[in-house]
Amino acid sequence: MQSRRDFIKISALGIGGITLGSQGIPKLLGNGLFIDPVVSGMKRIPTYCEVCFWKCAAWTHVDEKGKIRKIIGNDSDPHCNGRLCPRGTGGVGVYEDKDRLTTPLIREGEVGSQRFRKASWDEALDLIADRIKEISAEHGPESIALFNHGSSGAHFTHLMKAMGSSNTAPSYAQCRGPREVGYKLTYGSVLGSPEPLDIRDSKCMVLIGSHLGENMHNGQVQEMADMIEKGADIITVDPRYSIAASKSKYWLPIKPATDIALLLAWIHVMIEENLYDQDYVKNNTIGFEQLAHHVKQMTPEWAYGITTIKPSMIRKTARLMAASAPASFVHPGRQVTWYGDDTQRTRAIAIINGLLGNWGKRGGFYFAEKVKIPKYPYPEYPTPKWDWRNILNGRFPFAALSISNTFIDATIDQEGPYQIKGWIVSGTNLPYAIPDISKFEKAAQLAKFIVVVDTMPMEITGYADVVLPECTYLERYDDLRTSPHREPYIALRAPALPPVGDSKPAAWMARELGIRLGLEAYFPWEKYEEVLEWQLNKVGSSLEEMHEIGIKRFPRKSGPLYQPENELPLFSTPSGKIELYSQQLADTGFDPLPNYTEHATPPEGYYRLNYGRAPMHTFSRTSNNPYLADLMDENFVWVHPKVAAKWNLETGQKVYLKNQDGVKSEFPIKVRVTERIRWDSVFMVHGFGHSNKQLTQAVGKGASDNHLITDVKIDPIMGATGMRGNFVTFIVDATT
Ligand code: SF4
Repeated sequence: MQSRRDFIKISALGIGGITLGSQGIPKLLGNGLFIDPVVSGMKRIPTYCEVCFWKCAAWTHVDEKGKIRKIIGNDSDPHCNGRLCPRGTGGVGVYEDKDRLTTPLIREGEVGSQRFRKASWDEALDLIADRIKEISAEHGPESIALFNHGSSGAHFTHLMKAMGSSNTAPSYAQCRGPREVGYKLTYGSVLGSPEPLDIRDSKCMVLIGSHLGENMHNGQVQEMADMIEKGADIITVDPRYSIAASKSKYWLPIKPATDIALLLAWIHVMIEENLYDQDYVKNNTIGFEQLAHHVKQMTPEWAYGITTIKPSMIRKTARLMAASAPASFVHPGRQVTWYGDDTQRTRAIAIINGLLGNWGKRGGFYFAEKVKIPKYPYPEYPTPKWDWRNILNGRFPFAALSISNTFIDATIDQEGPYQIKGWIVSGTNLPYAIPDISKFEKAAQLAKFIVVVDTMPMEITGYADVVLPECTYLERYDDLRTSPHREPYIALRAPALPPVGDSKPAAWMARELGIRLGLEAYFPWEKYEEVLEWQLNKVGSSLEEMHEIGIKRFPRKSGPLYQPENELPLFSTPSGKIELYSQQLADTGFDPLPNYTEHATPPEGYYRLNYGRAPMHTFSRTSNNPYLADLMDENFVWVHPKVAAKWNLETGQKVYLKNQDGVKSEFPIKVRVTERIRWDSVFMVHGFGHSNKQLTQAVGKGASDNHLITDVKIDPIMGATGMRGNFVTFIVDATT
């Protein structure tokens, strides 16, 4: 039986975690876990991790010489249960990275050139404020857009709203947007983060292209280990034999881009064989008759010809899911922007979960609750004259948040009524995150002004007119973490050390800019601690208490964790029920029930480009981290042995990749020959292939998948950018 310790070890690909040696230098351990050295006289300061967006609460331990000795998980935190993942323990590398930005920079070279001169904060902030005023005077404040990813975005979002612009773009359209829309349409509510999945008590979990264990969503990985320990079953659908697949009862190596056909066939089996929860469906859903009629012909035999999954396997897995219901679910996924029909795929998943009757059930979805933190009493924000919805102009009717790519389009569009002229980019390396790099570059050339706020000199900084050096999460206060969970919690992030060099917190930068823009009323505090203290007092706590405990638990107010047996749940859909058939979609001209649409397959000699995560890295933001690079400093392209034989490739050999549009990878990438990938696909870990020479650890190592994603499949329902419709071939002579 697999223990949790073993599982974490396996999740880290057996490479191990990180601990501190006698010189305070993290070193690898064989067992994959952090070993806590006994060092006297250390202070511990609460934080929550920013190495990824799971936000595990942690303690930073600082010795008497002011050196960070270790970062360990907070035992009270359900996101991590006291255990950080390898990346989280490697957070000390975020602080120590010698390539960090430590002073404001003003560009001297041409756009994209990475040539800057150092500047004082006053000069940099005055310049930004002047340019924002100029652009606002000419085009309105709405013409400034914010691209953000991470905690700092909240401070700039506040500044933007105070200025009169609500054009702020998170990673919604590149990540979980379609899932949230699919669930909103079906259940009337979004899932949020962490997803309210009762994994630890589940008897059967289905993963579709979701590689838990490699993406290290910490709490979920731990619960997955718990369910394995209890003998529960996992079914993994993935063209790649992932870590999760290796822990699964069944691995279904599906032909890529055919998942909806499999989902529809599963629905067919559940209905034809009366496996679904009939009472639950009768009482809680609408549209069952239409659904049954819709999938009548979508037999496992029909799906076999599309997915390459045998009918007997489709039936067997459908029966297993149903036999375990309601403690059984299909994981709704997270990075789900694949083929342009992603909202519909998520709808199909939501429908299966409806048939399993798992909403509000132990082992299915629990009812999450979060602490409502009162808003600090700022003045009302001005109402913008227009926003991102105007840019969409009726497209993507179910988009609930702005679509970052449409800000790129609105920067290129020099004629339209809703143009973006200036960018503030906070914590997101756009050339490695937004697909279609040529469009991005065109927009960056046309933008009148770009400010980049980051801790590291990423590729995006090369496009900035001004670069503002942000201190890391270990050196600043940020907003309280209030993510929903089984019990409501808050977590504090506090600085363990003063900022390195002349780096500053985003809250300070936003305030300084606000003052220069005449928006002092929106920043009536000297230090951000005042905001936190005010908010904490309102919920019956204080900074002093939170420094002591790091995380505070509150009693639930919204009712029980699971649906009481004798009560029917209420859904916030128009019908008040789970909408298997979506009248909202029908009314807006979309398929009210999910349909399988055939997607292009790779031309001869090309292979579908699949990308994903490794346990020790988070996108391109960690590839320069000295400790995490020790674990993995480049990515490989996974190639099936049949394909390797055809191309005469060997493990370790360097190749360039070229996509269907003739775009070649900037750097060569090493081949990994493995049976763990289908013959029609290749796989690579996202976030490598850096070109910025100031990233001394990461430059030129591996290749960037994002540069090869030039065919973007847009989801017509909500605008997400599907990125898995790209194919690559090999340029074997890596010297060309
Ligand atoms: Fe940090 Fe790992 Fe938690 Fe992400 S999962 S927040 S990297 S400890």
